[in-house]
Amino acid sequence: MKLVLLGPPGAGKGTQAAFIVEKYGIPHISTGDILRAAVKAGTELGKLAESYMSKGELVPDEVVIGVAIERLAQPDCAKGFLLDGFPRTVAQAEALDKELAKLNRPLSAVLSLEVEEAEVVRRLSGRRVCSGCGAIYTAADKALCETCSGQLITRADDQPEAIRRRMQVYREQTEPLVNYYAMKGILKRIPAVGDVKEVFTRIEAALG
Ligand code: AMP
Repeated sequence: MKLVLLGPPGAGKGTQAAFIVEKYGIPHISTGDILRAAVKAGTELGKLAESYMSKGELVPDEVVIGVAIERLAQPDCAKGFLLDGFPRTVAQAEALDKELAKLNRPLSAVLSLEVEEAEVVRRLSGRRVCSGCGAIYTAADKALCETCSGQLITRADDQPEAIRRRMQVYREQTEPLVNYYAMKGILKRIPAVGDVKEVFTRIEAALG
């Protein structure tokens, strides 16, 4: 199964990705996670990425395409993969198509998580992540992670100004991909509202 998970920030991509990789036994490839790890490690890539990420801007295509393609070349992706947060621009989608065509391994499906903008802004404003293990919390009433007791923090790009910018970037640069994949006949639209398990049931049904 070779999948792409598409949707605005706060649509629940991270949460659904965890369910999908568990059920289908494929690796979860989040370019956001890879870039955050690079920022934390203080690598050259991390230093470059941080200046874009903290403002809610996209990291340049040539950088992210390199990161994604390098990850897809690793042996665990031979059985399939779930791309989460990549591609985010038409140029990235074209680069991905080209790479997968070279390997003769086209995408099986693209899942588009669909949710109203007012709802995602509400969700992101309350979102906390564990600084230890990366677990996501939607309620603001906890200080420590239930799993690893790490501090729960607000991501720099979940500050109100960055949220607004990320939504604008999504509309302008990423939303055109919905149409791009619809034209290819592999788009599955998934209403991403209600209980997270209900959303996952819709995904399972869409994937047959
Ligand atoms: P995410 O965790 O997917 O929301 O990504 C967090 C941030 O990482 C984004 O707001 C971008 O700054 C950067 N990023 C992640 N994936 C990409 C991508 N495919 N293209 C450009 N920037 C990305």
